[in-house]
Amino acid sequence: MGLVVQKYGGSSVADAEGIKRVAKRIVEAKQSGNQVVAVVSAMGDTTDELIDLAEQVSPMPAGRELDMLLTAGERISMALLAMAIKKLGHEAQSFTGSQAGVITDSVHNKARIIDVTPGRIKTSVDEGNIAIVAGFQGVSQDTKDITTLGRGGSDTTAVALAAALDADVCEIYTDVDGVFTADPRVVKKARKIDWISFEDMLELAASGSKVLLHRCVEYARRYNIPIHVRSSFSGLQGTWVSSEPINQGDKQVEQALISGVAHDTSEAKVTVVGVPDKPGEAASIFRTIADAEINIDMVVQNVSAASTGLTDISFTLPKTEGRKAIDALEKNKAGIGFDSLRYDDQIGKISLVGAGMKTNPGVTADFFTALSDAGVNIELISTSEIRISVVTRADDVPEAVRAVHSAFGLDSDSDEAVVYGGTGR
Ligand code: ADP
Ligand code: ASP
Ligand code: MG
Repeated sequence: MGLVVQKYGGSSVADAEGIKRVAKRIVEAKQSGNQVVAVVSAMGDTTDELIDLAEQVSPMPAGRELDMLLTAGERISMALLAMAIKKLGHEAQSFTGSQAGVITDSVHNKARIIDVTPGRIKTSVDEGNIAIVAGFQGVSQDTKDITTLGRGGSDTTAVALAAALDADVCEIYTDVDGVFTADPRVVKKARKIDWISFEDMLELAASGSKVLLHRCVEYARRYNIPIHVRSSFSGLQGTWVSSEPINQGDKQVEQALISGVAHDTSEAKVTVVGVPDKPGEAASIFRTIADAEINIDMVVQNVSAASTGLTDISFTLPKTEGRKAIDALEKNKAGIGFDSLRYDDQIGKISLVGAGMKTNPGVTADFFTALSDAGVNIELISTSEIRISVVTRADDVPEAVRAVHSAFGLDSDSDEAVVYGGTGR
């Protein structure tokens, strides 16, 4: 007998029908002889709707109370799912993140898991129950307050539980058939990937491929937990994310030269204008941002104008942190010493990811040529060993993603990628 951790995303449990369909799938896993722990997200777009509601009451709601509100979404789906499973004649018990032993730090809205003590879950499955766990939530070790793990955090709950329970497999069920070479909502000719390494998946996830949350992949890599990403709407094999290539039938899956194209329109750009070009300036700007607990992405410093000795520094960050960053910088304006701030939330990022980049000098040139052929202007560039990213106008993103996908020969010549559900929100 094995232990399986399954995670069902919001689009898989969007309505009562979805919950019943998922309940059946979970029961099938149990009937084939496994102990089953199912992690579940809030129904459909519930989390977004709760955030909208909070903003109507207060434009910057307190982190503690926002977490309390958002965790309600996962409580609804976990209880309904347990009821639906019981209706099928099987025993199920639902647990909040705190009850499941998901212990976090105390950073509200984006807490990190620091420990998992799944005693109650273990007992529950040992007694023959199916355990249903609310994803995306935990409890702070210090304050004992309820926390959430950041958007998409149920993926991390699933992997963390799989590690703590020493599960045989962690399955992430979603509304597409696996990880594709680009978001199937944008590129109809995207191809399903059979296997992808933790490293490439980490870069794709960090670059905006929200099919897996990047913290979840980080966690899986640290504890070496293979993940199977697949659709809850079809019976097809999905994508394996693991350290070593898998065998499929008699064919060994090879490491692709280029894994895929990711895009992200959730970031904004802040430009600090008129910064004195002297040591310590960048340090005080980014200390201010770090003290506000804001994670930044790209950073670019312009060449300073010889006549003024002043320069501009631009960086990108999640749009949701934009207001906080501007407020923090304005507050420290005298200490840092700059002229003004510019804020631009109409940007998008396109990234090409693949381990093959390390050894193929032509990739960067081909990437820029594809963008220029599509008439897309580049505003910022950043690279890692296995990724190249550019910032463009947000409007240009879909066209740019398709152009790059074609240019690197990633277009599939068979079936179009299927999106089974979800609103893409
Ligand atoms: P869930 O509700 O199951 O967590 P998400 O909406 O978080 O689902 O993630 C699934 C979505 O991720 C897909 O519907 C798809 O639009 C998007 N996506 C982005 N990039 C990719 C990719 N490379 N492969 C597959 N899906 C992707
Ligand atoms: N419900 C949360 C969200 O929408 C967590 C998740 O779905 O993983 O972000
Ligand atoms: Mg998700």
